[in-house]
Amino acid sequence: MNIFSGLEKFGLKSAESVQLFEDNKKSNQQHAHQQDDNQQTKPAEQEIPPEKDFILEKTVRCKVCDQVFKTKVVKNGRVKRLEPDRDLRPRFQYIDTLKYDITSCPFCGYTAMNRYFDMISSGQIKLIREQIASQFQPKSQSEEESYSYDTAVDRYKLSLLNTVVKRGRDSEKAFTCLKLSWLLRGKVETMSESTAEEKQVKQVCEQEQEEFYQQAFEGFQKAIAGEMFPMCGMEQCTVDYLLACMAFHFKKYEIASKFLQSVLTSVSASRRMKDMALELKDDIIAELRK
Ligand SMILES: [Zn+2]
Repeated sequence: MNIFSGLEKFGLKSAESVQLFEDNKKSNQQHAHQQDDNQQTKPAEQEIPPEKDFILEKTVRCKVCDQVFKTKVVKNGRVKRLEPDRDLRPRFQYIDTLKYDITSCPFCGYTAMNRYFDMISSGQIKLIREQIASQFQPKSQSEEESYSYDTAVDRYKLSLLNTVVKRGRDSEKAFTCLKLSWLLRGKVETMSESTAEEKQVKQVCEQEQEEFYQQAFEGFQKAIAGEMFPMCGMEQCTVDYLLACMAFHFKKYEIASKFLQSVLTSVSASRRMKDMALELKDDIIAELRK
């Protein structure tokens, strides 16, 4: 599967041959840490306020092409946080705020997670100009009041490609993959499967979700080998816990146990995180006994 599929419409055909993580342990230079704030929608049955009620437009100046454009952001005060998924995928009532974590310049294609959009060096600007902006074809789209999942997925993929092009850190790539996978999980939750065709479309989406989860799993393991904490705004215990969850998902129980041990012995892990780690540990033991 080409993980950048869908970006051809932006004129970025070369994305097909892009390698996400380099094999060698080259230390990756520069740049920003990230933080996370993400989330998910739970469709309710009645009186669902429209997503547009929870977002507002923000004006941004692009560091790469200097044009000014509007982007949608979540009104933080208005959204109600729900219990996250076990792997910390954030969830909010009525809105999947993950969709709004990316800023994308409609003129040149420069795209990044919101809080890192302005954190770009002159060397990186040059790389983006040469490899993204020069080919980028703005996609004419009807002005959406809120982002559909498909629009959001495109924005994440563009962001991921930009991160590769600007030689961003492994952690930034891994975190983008993780959020993309979470976003696809949110999309899957909204998909119906009443016909064979719908079932198939849903299955493809699930496969893509798995693919990005796998990339995130590999990427974070690379990142912890070569980067310092905090990583993408996360402390070591959080990243270790995430890795344990992903390892559990892929049935790599030994790796999962190793990361859980690190969470359980961490002095900075919260009581709550340790409880979650203990629960996961119980589930691993149960799996191993099967
Ligand atoms: Zn731009």
